Amino acid sequence: FRLDKFLLLCIQMLSVQPDAKPKGCAGCNRKIKDRYLLKALDKYWHEDCLKCACCDCRLGEVGSTLYTKANLILCRRDYLRLFGVTGNCAACSKLIPAFEMVMRAKDNVYHLDCFACQLCNQRFCVGDKFFLKNNMILCQTDYEEGLMKEGYVSQVR
Ligand SMILES: [Zn+2]
Ligand SMILES: [Zn+2]
Ligand SMILES: [Zn+2]
Ligand SMILES: [Zn+2]
Repeated sequence: FRLDKFLLLCIQMLSVQPDAKPKGCAGCNRKIKDRYLLKALDKYWHEDCLKCACCDCRLGEVGSTLYTKANLILCRRDYLRLFGVTGNCAACSKLIPAFEMVMRAKDNVYHLDCFACQLCNQRFCVGDKFFLKNNMILCQTDYEEGLMKEGYVSQVR
C-alpha cells in the first residue's frame, strides 16, 4: 500500500513531572493526573483514551504506532483492514482494497468481478474448473482449445 495515504505516527510515553501543570487529554478533555501520559498527533492522551476507533484496543500497548485517516485513529490491523490493499488484480491490474472479497488463484488475486475466463468472459461457479495459463484465467473449453492449437502448431513446425 502507498505510504502517502495515511499518517503513521509515533506514540510517545512520557512521565508526568509532579510539579508540572496537568495537561488536558485530547480524548476525554479531562486533565491528565496519571503518572504517565501519551503524546501522539501533537496532543496528550490518557493511556486509556488513545484507542483504536474500530476495535477499542489501547494503542499505547499495541505498539508504538497509530494510523490516522479521515479523523479516525486506528491500530495497524484495522487500518490495513479498512484502507490497506490486498494487491493488484491480475486481470485488470487495479488495486484491490483489503476489505474487498477476492478470488485467489496461485499467487494471483482478482476482483470478484474480474474472475472470469479472459477469453470468453465466462464466470465461474463453485466447483467449476478453471485453468491458469500464461497468467490468464481460462475456462476448460478455452484451455483445451489452446492446448489443441499449440499441439497443432508444434506438429507443423
Ligand atoms: Zn482522557
Ligand atoms: Zn483496532
Ligand atoms: Zn480487477
Ligand atoms: Zn472461456
